[in-house]
Amino acid sequence: MPQPKYRRVVLKLSGEALAGEKGFGIDPLFITSIAKQIREVVELGVEVAIVVGGGNIWRGLAGSAKGMDRATADYMGMLATVMNSLALQDSLEREGVPTRVQSSIEMRQVAEPYIRRRAIRHLEKKRVVIFAAGTGNPYFSTDTTAALRAAEIEAEVILMAKNKVDGVYSADPDKDTNAIKYDELTYLQVLNQGLGVMDSTASSLCMDNDISLIVFSISEDGNIMKAILGEKIGTIVRGNE
Ligand code: UDP
Repeated sequence: MPQPKYRRVVLKLSGEALAGEKGFGIDPLFITSIAKQIREVVELGVEVAIVVGGGNIWRGLAGSAKGMDRATADYMGMLATVMNSLALQDSLEREGVPTRVQSSIEMRQVAEPYIRRRAIRHLEKKRVVIFAAGTGNPYFSTDTTAALRAAEIEAEVILMAKNKVDGVYSADPDKDTNAIKYDELTYLQVLNQGLGVMDSTASSLCMDNDISLIVFSISEDGNIMKAILGEKIGTIVRGNE
């Protein structure tokens, strides 16, 4: 059996990752392929916590740009992440992976409330834990949620799965043919160069708490496993370890 490099990880799935080729909504076929990839690493004994975004359904910033109150728009974004979390839980359980959803906004009929120690207990019992509703606060992102929860549950790394890009580039590779892909970066480089890996709140939190990040493409089957085994994929942003 291959030996995983990491024991406990946070997998950050952007909302777009669940939308597959369509770019919006939830693509059941695509989500099933993600669930299969997650099952494979859970079977190796890796403890997997997942933070899901909501951008495939709603983004607070887009709503506020159209005149909506920002906090209200952000709460809608957080609710979108709950829908994605339930879809992912459904797929994982159909793959036979026991899964719990914990929501930062209380929603007792559909999810447990977020309780750190309980989340850790689930992980120890090899259940996948999906953190829904972001941090529960407007003005934040699910990237920041991933950084926060990774620190709280003492995860060794954040695996940031992207739908369309396979790492961090110096510029948008779709728009600039001279864009180069980085193999390794530090958070200071990310912040100083304004690289679009994650927002600055999330980057600072990772930097201050020494949390490493691997940015890779989810579209390629088997990439989650490669990341877990420590194979070189995508871009690694190192904490100060
Ligand atoms: N959101 C929020 N607080 C949080 C996490 C998320 O207000 O702690 C809202 C915010 O409006 C954001 C939306 O939820 O636009 C969806 O999350 P995000 O944009 O991070 O999703 P992704 O880009 O990963 O799909």
